[in-house]
Amino acid sequence: MTSDVQRTHARLDSFVDRYAARTAGMTASEIRALFSVASRPEVVSLAGGMPNISGLPLDVVGSAIGDLVAEQGTVAMQYGSGQGVPALREQITDVMRLEGIDAHADDVVVTVGSQQAVDLVTRVFCDPGDVVICEAPSYVGALGVFRAYQAEVVHAEMDADGLVPEALQQAITAVKAAGRTIKFLYTIPNFHNPAGVTMSAERRRQVLEICQREGVLVLEDNPYGLLGFSGEPMRALRADDPDNVIYLGSFSKTFAPGFRVGWALAPHPVREKLVLAQESSTLCPPQFSQMAVSAYLAAHDWQGQIKQFREMYRERRDAMIDALEDLLPAGCSWNVPEGGFYVWLTLPPGVDAKAMLPRAVTARVAYVPGTAFYADGFGSSAMRLSFCYPTPERIREGVRRLAGVLETEMEL
Ligand code: PMP
Repeated sequence: MTSDVQRTHARLDSFVDRYAARTAGMTASEIRALFSVASRPEVVSLAGGMPNISGLPLDVVGSAIGDLVAEQGTVAMQYGSGQGVPALREQITDVMRLEGIDAHADDVVVTVGSQQAVDLVTRVFCDPGDVVICEAPSYVGALGVFRAYQAEVVHAEMDADGLVPEALQQAITAVKAAGRTIKFLYTIPNFHNPAGVTMSAERRRQVLEICQREGVLVLEDNPYGLLGFSGEPMRALRADDPDNVIYLGSFSKTFAPGFRVGWALAPHPVREKLVLAQESSTLCPPQFSQMAVSAYLAAHDWQGQIKQFREMYRERRDAMIDALEDLLPAGCSWNVPEGGFYVWLTLPPGVDAKAMLPRAVTARVAYVPGTAFYADGFGSSAMRLSFCYPTPERIREGVRRLAGVLETEMEL
């Protein structure tokens, strides 16, 4: 059925009959218009996942980049290898060692953020109609990639310990029984976006075991793994099953997203395909960005910097949890994330987070409704709250405004 929105687009866009079928999945989010309002300074945005990089030592970054231009400028501004700068790939193996991964730099492919890595992996594996199993809920940016390649998302439930093995097994069995092909499981094991939960060690073992037995490849997306608020980083899934896991990492949250540097670590043959896909997509990832990140890692105590980020985000997590406890009406529930950027808030029955959003923005607070994180329209009674960017005081004010909107909503 053609909706009013589609009809309006068709009137405005004379190319509409000529686009590839896959563009049908490339739709602007219905909440995008609201977010331009939400980015006004008077609105407390608990919506975006922007890392707070105000603590970065810009003098150190600036002088590392200055030295790079002075000493290796003509290399840094030239085309480079499709796989990425070798020195950076070596440093990436040091980063991954913190999560128990013992990898060779030859198996690392540098990408334009881990977002491009999700895109390349999907391009390499998915034909239209193939199935990708995702946690419920899952990262909105990855769902957009799967949709763009016309892959079908089948969700499997999570609980406080992450992906539920029985739910994963059930999803696999049902998809296979329907004669469909599963290309991979897409999972965010640490400080999940948007659910905030972390997969326990026991669950990791079970998930790997199921995927190995069922012949399902695992795509482990891990941009937040080093941003835990206590203890050591969890051991990556990739550390225990190098042959059946593609691991994705990123410098966006541990350094800065503006460089757009992420990576994929893949079994040998897959790595070859990813490099070819990278070459046809960008020729090579940006040489200058890669060398700048490499210079920063060499010049700065990057682990100390991550520790500072962790402390800042923990303070903001605490501010959000305290505010939720003090201010939200009865009937709401949420988790307490052990790291990362996000809290998943479940609303009392009958309250619809998407329908409520315009009223929240009018009350000068923004969030992302839960439906954005499901491929199948679920999630209407939940929302994602980000605590990464606003100050603790603004977070409390944002939750106060949200509580006011919710109270009115519950009286309706
Ligand atoms: N995966 C997840 C789970 C994310 O939260 C994000 C960023 N929000 C990305 C991938 C993409 O990050 P980037 O491209 O900046 O590395």
